[in-house]
Amino acid sequence: MKAARLYGIRDLRVEDVASPDPGPGEAMIRIHSCGVCPSDLRGYLGTRSSAGPTSLPRTPGHEWAGVVVALGDSAAPESDGGPSTPTIRVGDRVVADWRYVCGQCYQCRRGVFNYCENLRRGVRGGFAEYGVAPLSQLRVIPDHVSFEEASFCEPLACILNAHSYTQIAVGNDVVVVGAGPIGLLHLQLARNRGARVIVSDPIASRLDAARELGAHDVIDASNTDPVARVRELTEGRGADTVIVAVGAAEPIRQGLAMATINGWVNLFAGTYPSQELPVDPNLIHYKQLRVTGSHDFTPHNFSTALKLIQFGIVRVKPLISHRFELDAVRDAFETAAGRLGLKSMVLPTK
Ligand SMILES: [Zn+2]
Ligand SMILES: [Zn+2]
Repeated sequence: MKAARLYGIRDLRVEDVASPDPGPGEAMIRIHSCGVCPSDLRGYLGTRSSAGPTSLPRTPGHEWAGVVVALGDSAAPESDGGPSTPTIRVGDRVVADWRYVCGQCYQCRRGVFNYCENLRRGVRGGFAEYGVAPLSQLRVIPDHVSFEEASFCEPLACILNAHSYTQIAVGNDVVVVGAGPIGLLHLQLARNRGARVIVSDPIASRLDAARELGAHDVIDASNTDPVARVRELTEGRGADTVIVAVGAAEPIRQGLAMATINGWVNLFAGTYPSQELPVDPNLIHYKQLRVTGSHDFTPHNFSTALKLIQFGIVRVKPLISHRFELDAVRDAFETAAGRLGLKSMVLPTK
């Protein structure tokens, strides 16, 4: 089969490799779509903060969906108490949750599945014609949901996790800093909670997309001070909740400054490389701010994400700006790296 293989910084090649074999309790999937995620991009650009020993070459990609073409031995993998194994058949259209959690460790038992101590990357290598995944990691895609829409389950699951670490009530003023694909998902979820949503970004086309997806106000951060503008838009008070969907120190500082008394600030994005941020702690103390982080997602977030897409509660199709065949996977990464458009989607097979 053909697969993309990353050899080093900006060195991504499409090569012929052996097709993977499904092991016991696994399925082999013909991959129809795989989204380019910011984390894939960090690997490609060599900007990961914790440069763990990642063996190269490797096939990136975890936001993938496709059709089950074969099943491994039906014997269950060693009983690990993980999520119950669904019934999956050859021909099923599926989307794969890459976070294979154990269900048994301290963090899983206290419900913090996104920090499972025995996490396995059950699913990787989506920029390829075929992949394998444990059956427990697969969700069947409803007929009317396309593969590329289902590929948004992973990023949307991260957003659902973030929203459980902040508070948005009906009528609240919410600011989303950053109108990339992630910010546009936050916008939609905040709207669904009955908030008035303000979106800030320096790129005009992204602000257009924000308006189209329901932003009540947008701020062009290329020529406007977002903090002053948020105050103007909120009768001087600031926002009840700010979600910072940009991984950089200055937007985080702005997020703390634009939050109102008793407000919430969620730091959704990591900063790469890691940065120090000079912050006046009085901003947090005297405004009684609640500053939270959020990272990754739980199995339940992933299932809920598919449900939101299935019922049109969150629209993901408008977030796809570019589509590429597998042979052009490098162009997909370069497009994402240049922040051209929104989501780059790779379509390995038809
Ligand atoms: Zn992702
Ligand atoms: Zn665990």
